[in-house]
Amino acid sequence: MKKVEDYVRSIPDFPEKGIIFRDITSVIQDPEGLKLAIDGIQNLLKDVDFDVVVGPESRGFIFGVPIAYNNHTGFVPVRKKGKLPCETISEEYALEYGTATIEIHKDAIQPGQKVVIVDDLIATGGTTEAAIHMIERLGGEVVKVVFLMELEGLKGRERLKDYDVDAVIKYP
Ligand code: 5GP
Repeated sequence: MKKVEDYVRSIPDFPEKGIIFRDITSVIQDPEGLKLAIDGIQNLLKDVDFDVVVGPESRGFIFGVPIAYNNHTGFVPVRKKGKLPCETISEEYALEYGTATIEIHKDAIQPGQKVVIVDDLIATGGTTEAAIHMIERLGGEVVKVVFLMELEGLKGRERLKDYDVDAVIKYP
């Protein structure tokens, strides 16, 4: 029987030389791959009590919404700057070259809400850390952070050491 990692396509030198890109389109286009991925993430949350799922644009939407639906919670998107129509707060974070800014609607998280963050992959942890800052500024409590894939060598987990972090697939 195939495992979820069997559906991930690894693309050398994308988007730049030296990077092995872990492609999830090959996972989600297959009914069994999609089911294994969502069930794998869901399994990491089986003992977690939470009120809302936050997912960063854009692959966090793909995995975050079915998790929210399964658990009968709402879903809150974190988006790139300039995409959300109502009042937002934002956070800038460092990329390898330059910076990026992400935003969340100010009224999307209520003080005291227990939040789970779902995304496809953790590399350096910079995106997640910025998302956590925004959630906490709005008074939310991040109770768990779950990924389909973790690139362990980039040590994102160390950056998020104060949080409960888990991943379905771990690449050394
Ligand atoms: P980080 O902020 O942890 O360094 O990077 C994680 C973000 O970059 C995630 O939102 C993820 O979607 C994207 N990302 C970086 N590398 C890859 C990759 O190899 N495959 C996929 N699917 N996403 C990646």
